[in-house]
Amino acid sequence: SLSDRLTSTFKNLRGKGRLSESDINSTIRDIRLALIDADVATPVVREFTGRVRERALGAEVSQALNPGQQVVKIVNEELVGVLGGQTRELQMAKHPPTVIMLAGLQGSGKTTFAGKLARFLRDKGHFPVLVAADLQRPNAVTQLEVVAERAGVPCFAPEPGNVGGHDAATAEGTQSYGDPVWVARAGVGQAKVRQYDVVIVDTAGRLAVDENLMQQAADIRDAIQPDEVLFVIDAMIGQAAIETALAFQKGVDFTGVVLSKLDGDARGGAALSVASVTGRPIMFSSIGEQTKDIEVFHPDRMASRILDMGDVLTLIEQAEKAFDRDQAAAMARKFMDEEDFTFDDFLQQMAAIKKMGNLKALMGMMPGMSGMKEQLANLDEREFDRVEAMVRSMTPFERTHPKQINGSRRARIAGGSGVTVSEVNSLLERFGQAQKMMRQMRRGGGMPGMPGLPG
Ligand code: GDP
Ligand code: MG
Repeated sequence: SLSDRLTSTFKNLRGKGRLSESDINSTIRDIRLALIDADVATPVVREFTGRVRERALGAEVSQALNPGQQVVKIVNEELVGVLGGQTRELQMAKHPPTVIMLAGLQGSGKTTFAGKLARFLRDKGHFPVLVAADLQRPNAVTQLEVVAERAGVPCFAPEPGNVGGHDAATAEGTQSYGDPVWVARAGVGQAKVRQYDVVIVDTAGRLAVDENLMQQAADIRDAIQPDEVLFVIDAMIGQAAIETALAFQKGVDFTGVVLSKLDGDARGGAALSVASVTGRPIMFSSIGEQTKDIEVFHPDRMASRILDMGDVLTLIEQAEKAFDRDQAAAMARKFMDEEDFTFDDFLQQMAAIKKMGNLKALMGMMPGMSGMKEQLANLDEREFDRVEAMVRSMTPFERTHPKQINGSRRARIAGGSGVTVSEVNSLLERFGQAQKMMRQMRRGGGMPGMPGLPG
């Protein structure tokens, strides 16, 4: 499989220090195959790999990862980014009801999804109602009624003979036995009167993008002013994803995307194609024919599904963790050695602390620290940034020879990091004390603390 092949490519690349252009090219060739395999549309593949290549060429050399792994890491990050980064929640109306309109090709899964979304919202404590504005086929209304019953929500459907009062006055060329715009508007009106807080409006689709159909959808949208227009697209659609998505974006300007039939073997390339060309967030996945088969869309999970490289991504994560451990071990050795603690070591420690996240929370969890609530409250995390800025303004020589930092060097460091000279003085003084303390501890075998930190 591709995953295996990449893993062996990585083995060959191991030990190389830098990202060479040919390393990048060969990894990107593999990634391109993975994307095409996942049915990402060709223009999107081209644009995407181009961007990744550029970023990989400019990437800093990682010590934790080999070149191939580094490229995959970049690809994964970019994929998650294009797919929306974070999950986007439904936009609820300030004044209920929230109106959600569904649009998409026939057979894409709109009606099925209407039931799933209703159930999903009902489980969250909402009172949704379905509106049957697909009047293309008589049994479309019946289908929605069945779906509503399964979801345990009501369905507003036109009664025969009360569908706007006319057959012919619908958008030109659509064969329907009523006016879907009228039905949609009446449905939303009823929901308002009966105090339902979410209205989900099902609409008609065609087998292919169609002007009349699009006009009808736009008319419905204009009539009911939805808070969300969700475009439902079949994950198996493949290369046609771009054309279809762009047509619906132009036609009804949807606000979010639902990816349906993800329970099949589609690798989800349609998600990347649609997100990439429309810039609209993917909000839900539909993963089966049952009402319960709905999931909030997760960009990171989709990225690894598209890449089909779960193993490789895990490997990368492990390599990075192992590297952190190596660094920590090197640091520990340093304490045992006669070598002095330098500002370079200090920067590494700062980075390690930052990676751990919220410092106050961390310290609060440490035994013996809970009695220090007041000090913790006064701890200003911005101070860490100032200290880091000062250290970064030092030259490599200064970082390893703090004692040589004279008056003019101090002034330069202060200027470079936007602090006062007396702040630099105070940092150097604390650092000198910490070095001394560490020398003492080394002799006494004590446990070193966090030297040089403000406090
Ligand atoms: P619509 O024409 O857009 O309303 O599409 P439907 O909701 O009628 O769905 C068309 C067909 O796809 C039906 O047979 C559904 O049961 C099926 N379907 C819809 N969503 C899914 C899904 O997520 N997974 C699977 N396996 N089938 C689905
Ligand atoms: Mg339908």
